[in-house]
Amino acid sequence: MPVADFEPVIGLEVHAQLLTRTKIFCGCATAFGAAPNTQVCPTCLGLPGALPQLNRAAVEMAVRAGKAFGCNIATRSVWSRKNYFYPDLPKGYQISQFELPICAGGAVPVPGLGKVALERIHLEEDAGKNIHAEGGSEVDLNRSGTPLIEIVGKPDLRSAEDASEYLKALRLALIYLGVNDGNLEEGSFRCDANVSVRPRGAEKYGTRVELKNINSFRFVRQAIDFEIGRQVEAIQKGEKIRMETRLFDHEKGVTRPMRSKEEANDYRYFPEPDLPPLTISQAFIDAVALPKLPNQIAEELEAAGVPAADARTLIADPRLVSVHQRIGGDPRRAALFVVGELARAVNEKEADLSALKFEPALVREAFALQDSGAISSTAARDVLAELIRSGKPPQQIVQEKGLAQVSDTSALEAVVDAVIARNPGEVAKYRGGKTNLLGFFVGQAMRDLKGKGNPSVLNGLFTKKLQG
Ligand code: ADP
Ligand code: MG
Ligand code: ZN
Repeated sequence: MPVADFEPVIGLEVHAQLLTRTKIFCGCATAFGAAPNTQVCPTCLGLPGALPQLNRAAVEMAVRAGKAFGCNIATRSVWSRKNYFYPDLPKGYQISQFELPICAGGAVPVPGLGKVALERIHLEEDAGKNIHAEGGSEVDLNRSGTPLIEIVGKPDLRSAEDASEYLKALRLALIYLGVNDGNLEEGSFRCDANVSVRPRGAEKYGTRVELKNINSFRFVRQAIDFEIGRQVEAIQKGEKIRMETRLFDHEKGVTRPMRSKEEANDYRYFPEPDLPPLTISQAFIDAVALPKLPNQIAEELEAAGVPAADARTLIADPRLVSVHQRIGGDPRRAALFVVGELARAVNEKEADLSALKFEPALVREAFALQDSGAISSTAARDVLAELIRSGKPPQQIVQEKGLAQVSDTSALEAVVDAVIARNPGEVAKYRGGKTNLLGFFVGQAMRDLKGKGNPSVLNGLFTKKLQG
C-alpha cells in the first residue's frame, strides 16, 4: 500500500505546571531555579506519615482552564495513586486523578483548524528531577509536588503540522489564562505525542506509540513525522507496530524505543486514602474569573481595523497586547507602532517587554506632534525610537535633538529664494514646462534646512514663486 493511502492519527497529552506560588499538597515554594532540594518538606519528600493538604489555588486554575475550553467541570472528582518506581518519586506513587477527573470534554480553539476536542483535564503533582552528571546521578526534589494539569486531547489530529498548531494555541491560551508560563525549555509546558497510522478510510485506529517529553515545537513536528514514516514503512514490510514509549533523539532526528507500553501502562492506580474526594460548589465554579482568550482578542482587534497579520503578531505575546491597549487612540496606528518600532527595539535589545522604560500613552503624543506638522515623519520615527530607549516625553526629545520642523513661512521663504537664485538653469527649464523639477527644488531647500523644512509648505512656496 503506497504511503499516501495511510492516514496518521495523533493525540497529545500536555503537562502544564500551574502558576501557583506553592505546591499542590504542601506550602513549599514552586519557584524555578532554586538550589537543589531547598524547596522541600516532609510531604513533598514523601516521608512516611506526612499528609497532603490540597492547594485551593491549583483547583481554581484547573477550573479556569476547564471553563475556558468548555469542559464539564465535575463538582466531585477523586484522587488516585499512580504507582511506579523512579528515583525522582520518593513516595513511589504520584497523586493524580484517574476515574473522575476535574474536567471532562471540551475543546481548544486552534486558528485554521477549528476546535480540537479534549478527553479531559485532570490535576496531579509533578515528580522531582533526576540530574545526570559526570560522576553520577543526583535527584532534585524542588519540583516534586508542583501542581500540574494534564490536558488529554482526543486522537483527532491528522498531521505533525496540525499537532504543532494545536500545541501553540493551547500554550498561548494557558498563558492568557494566567495558569501556565508556557516555558518549554524549563519544562513547565511538556508534551507527549501519541501517534498511529491506519489505512485511509478505516474506522479502527492503528496501534499507537507514545513519544515522550519533546521540548520544542520543531521537535514535535520532526518526531511525529519521523514516527509516521517509520510506522508506515514497518507496516509495508509486513511488520506489526509495537505499543511502546519512544524517545526522540533530536540530534539524529529519529525516535528510539524507551520501554514497552505493557510495562509502562501497568501503573496500578489505587484510590488515594489521604485525600477526600474533591468537591467544589457551583458557586465556586461560577466565581472563577475568565480572562479573554487570544483568539477572541484577535477577533476584536481585527474588528477595530487592525490588519489580521498585525493582530496575530500582537496576540503572540500578551505583553504586546497590553502595550497596544495602553497606547490607546487609533488601534491600527498603535498596532503599527507595536509590531514595527517596538518589536524592532526588542529585537535589538533596546527594549525589554517585561520592563518597559516608557509610558505607552506617550506614543500618542509623538503621533500628535507629527500630525500637527511640528515634526516630520522621519523625525517622528527618531522620536519614537528615543522614547522607547529613554522614556523621555516626546516634546523634550524634539527639543533636545533639535527635531522641530520649520513650518514658519517667512523663515522658509528666504531659503526658497536662495535656492531659486542659485539655480537659474533649472528655473528656466521649470518655467519651460518641466514641472517635475519641483522635487529637485524642494530637495535643495531640505538640504539647506538639514531636513527640517515642512515639505508641504516648501512645495507651496516653490510652486507660487516659480510660476510668478
Ligand atoms: P495513557 O495514560 O496510556 O497515555 P491516556 O488515555 O492518558 O492513556 O492518553 C491517551 C492519549 O493517546 C490521548 O491523547 C489520545 O488522544 C491518544 N490516543 C489514543 N489512541 C490513539 C491512537 N490509536 N493513535 C493516536 N493517538 C491515540
Ligand atoms: Mg500517556
Ligand atoms: Zn513540601
